[in-house]
Amino acid sequence: MDRLAGAGLADLGFCEKDLAQTASLTWRINVLKGERQAVIPGHVYQRPELLVGVADFVGDSYKLAKLCAQSPAKVIVFCGVRFMAETAKILNPEKTVLLPAPGAGCSLSESITVAEVRRLRAQHPGVPVATYINTSAAVKAESDVIVTSANAACILGRLFAKHPKVIFIPDELMGRNLAAALGKKVGEELIIWKGTCIVHDKFDAFAIALYREIYPGVRILAHAECSPALVALVDFVGGTGDMMGYVEKTRAPYYMLVTECGLGELARMRFPEKNFVFMCRLCPYMKMTDLRGVLRALEDPPLSARLEVPADIAVRAKAAVRRMFELAEDTVKL
Ligand code: SF4
Repeated sequence: MDRLAGAGLADLGFCEKDLAQTASLTWRINVLKGERQAVIPGHVYQRPELLVGVADFVGDSYKLAKLCAQSPAKVIVFCGVRFMAETAKILNPEKTVLLPAPGAGCSLSESITVAEVRRLRAQHPGVPVATYINTSAAVKAESDVIVTSANAACILGRLFAKHPKVIFIPDELMGRNLAAALGKKVGEELIIWKGTCIVHDKFDAFAIALYREIYPGVRILAHAECSPALVALVDFVGGTGDMMGYVEKTRAPYYMLVTECGLGELARMRFPEKNFVFMCRLCPYMKMTDLRGVLRALEDPPLSARLEVPADIAVRAKAAVRRMFELAEDTVKL
């Protein structure tokens, strides 16, 4: 209980009763984790008690993909959404990968099908397909390279150095932000898709000026999945890892993180000396995972929690992920 309270849960409003229940569950999970030789990666948008209580490492999709590939564990209990667990399975075909909340999808991942990727390729022959990591394994398998919000601009820049045109799927808003950052014309040089994140496409740009008025000196950071209108008004744009890095390295009277609420909670726990202003939204998919689900997955996982990716899809998807690590100049050995 003391460990959980001291790690920041008390500051987030966990009362003694909440802490006692959380402590009991985390203790059982951590014992079973050792017995099963399991590892628990936790995405930054997950519930704080999961991240503090049982996660072995916490990060964005890119960091979790790298660490899962390096882990010697036999079982991966993925606290995140389905496409992330699929990525872990693609990189670790010999390991058991469990998704405690089998219904945890993602609006972006579900916005595009294999048939639609093939149609785009047929419409733009020879044009490379760069695919955001928030996609199914089957869509990744149709792609030339996977990107994350942290490395998309770098990788697309490298593709444009060799190709006049690039296809970027499936996030329309991120595609428009990337086109603006790279000085490319949407529809002519950068072909984009119409998918959106149901969390980030709802933030309104008009509120930004209001927050600046109320909180003088506030630094406003937005996720790259937000609209170009909002992105144009903020101090920093990037993925969740970049946003945390920015908070760590700068000094400001207030910070506002325009993204899923989990990142703000994590920032409050990591940087208790800094002030955070909230304009955030909850992702219903990310919040489906809870401690009881993790315990169930370790004790007796239902069939639906076991991630399987057909071998032919896994091989092609892994090649696209591997290409990301190469183009992002990462030294991870897969
Ligand atoms: S926050 Fe958006 S992109 Fe992330 S899992 Fe939720 S719906 Fe998908």
